[in-house]
Amino acid sequence: MIGRGGFGKVYKGTLGDQEIAVKRLNKDSQQGTNEFRNEVILIAKLQHRNLVRLLGCCDEGDEKLLIYEYLSNRSLDATLFDDSRKLLLDWGTRLNIIKGVARGLLYLHQDSRPTIIHRDLKAGNVLLDAQMKPKMADFGMARIFGDNQENANTQHVVGTYGYMAPEYAMEGVISTKSDIYSFGVLLLEIVTG
Ligand code: ATP
Repeated sequence: MIGRGGFGKVYKGTLGDQEIAVKRLNKDSQQGTNEFRNEVILIAKLQHRNLVRLLGCCDEGDEKLLIYEYLSNRSLDATLFDDSRKLLLDWGTRLNIIKGVARGLLYLHQDSRPTIIHRDLKAGNVLLDAQMKPKMADFGMARIFGDNQENANTQHVVGTYGYMAPEYAMEGVISTKSDIYSFGVLLLEIVTG
């Protein structure tokens, strides 16, 4: 076991000779079931070097698993906010992480079909590979937008306070701009530590 999140436990394993990360959904999580479906449906449609790759899934009875490529430097928050690990982040590396996340976000907002709003961009949802290249993860709360759609409204505000755009937190208005607000917070965190 390598971690634990809102979804359940995360394990490291191997598939053939590839290292994988397996997320196992808590059996009693209703919220998790919706997020599981959303993640599988969305991420299967997306391919970009700055998005984590979903390699497979299992939905059999109570057993729900998501299988990803394993990213050996784990999540950005674990490095950025850890006194001994943050030395790995020189300015060049920080700039490359910022540029990689920006490219991933540009893909979701402008280049992928369909348009995707991530809704929970934060340091804990950016994973780093062995070369410290960033990959966006956790699409469980993401929303699909139509080709010409500029915003949507929700009664059900999800995400992480502190990274949330005010119009989204207070009025439930979702748009690409709400992700960009979260990106701005992430950028300040990466620059200031
Ligand atoms: P939350 O679910 O509240 O957003 P979280 O993002 O930390 O929290 P998970 O996404 O379930 O929770 O991940 C838990 C931990 O497992 C991460 O912090 C990370 O260290 C590790 N992890 C997740 N996915 C991978 C992966 N593909 N490769 C390597 N480690 C991973």
